[in-house]
Amino acid sequence: QQKRLEKGKVRFFNESLRLQIIRERFLSDRLVTAIDDNELRLVFQPIVKSKTEEVVGLEALLRWRLDGEEVSPVEFIPIAEQYGMIKSIGLWVLEEACQQILTLSKSTKNLTVSINVSIIQLQDKDFVTHVRRLLTQLKFEPSRLHIEITESVFATDKSTLMTQIKALQEMNIEICIDDFGTGYSSLASMQNLGVDIVKIDKSFIDKINNSGSNIVHAVMQISQSMGYQVVAEGVETLEQVNKLNEIGVHFLQGYYFSKPLEVEQLNNYLGNHLK
Ligand code: C2E
Ligand code: MG
Ligand code: MG
Ligand code: MG
Repeated sequence: QQKRLEKGKVRFFNESLRLQIIRERFLSDRLVTAIDDNELRLVFQPIVKSKTEEVVGLEALLRWRLDGEEVSPVEFIPIAEQYGMIKSIGLWVLEEACQQILTLSKSTKNLTVSINVSIIQLQDKDFVTHVRRLLTQLKFEPSRLHIEITESVFATDKSTLMTQIKALQEMNIEICIDDFGTGYSSLASMQNLGVDIVKIDKSFIDKINNSGSNIVHAVMQISQSMGYQVVAEGVETLEQVNKLNEIGVHFLQGYYFSKPLEVEQLNNYLGNHLK
């Protein structure tokens, strides 16, 4: 009896693993041609100044529509990283984001654009050169570009990363730690890498009315002493907005203000929300 159960379990495990491998292969195959097949697009989520709720920036978020179905970046970015597509996709994101921002109406001249950059891209020795060339070519003001990096980067080869980050900062690009508080963070590496912006992870904002508030306070104090700007991500309620304002967090981002917007919606949204 017991043996049969165990066998069943093994078979079930193999079956779900098998399906997972099939899906991964399918997605990686299709991702190779996703750019050429026009399946990728960017959506943009506003970032607001907390006191005035004035929109100051937009985060570009990648979308993949595959045969009519949206595949989440949470699923396909790791596949792109694993199967060698992240560099070309990353460059596409950079160029597309800057270009889209440049096509917005004139009143948006001061908006920043944040892009998410994978550790693999950042470690590529040609990355900085690519960025510099593209910004020059598009005449895109480097200080308007923010590069978001997920904290897990701090776990790997730090000296290459520090060199790359410094080179980007010397161009006046701002570096942001994404999802701060999750993964392999340490205050020491935060200091060593000398970032400009810290984005507090949504999980702490979710808990802001109980255990999360101490953490947000602490991150705020450390950031202020180091001269970092702080963004709260995943802000969904007025209650959270008030609390974050009370703590003094500089910038807010989340569904409370806006979900990520399609390019076609941007000018209209900004027309109503720029001060
Ligand atoms: P992230 O950079 O931390 O982006 C924030 C995610 O939270 C986005 O999910 C956004 O849509 C979502 N979000 C924003 N506000 C709220 C809110 O109030 N409530 C809730 N529930 N969610 C909110 P998305 O677009 O699915 O992206 C997930 C992750 O995929 C991103 O996390 C980022 O790590 C990665 N990603 C997205 N685009 C790119 C890209 O172009 N390149 C790379 N390397 N990674 C990307
Ligand atoms: Mg991000
Ligand atoms: Mg992230
Ligand atoms: Mg994040």
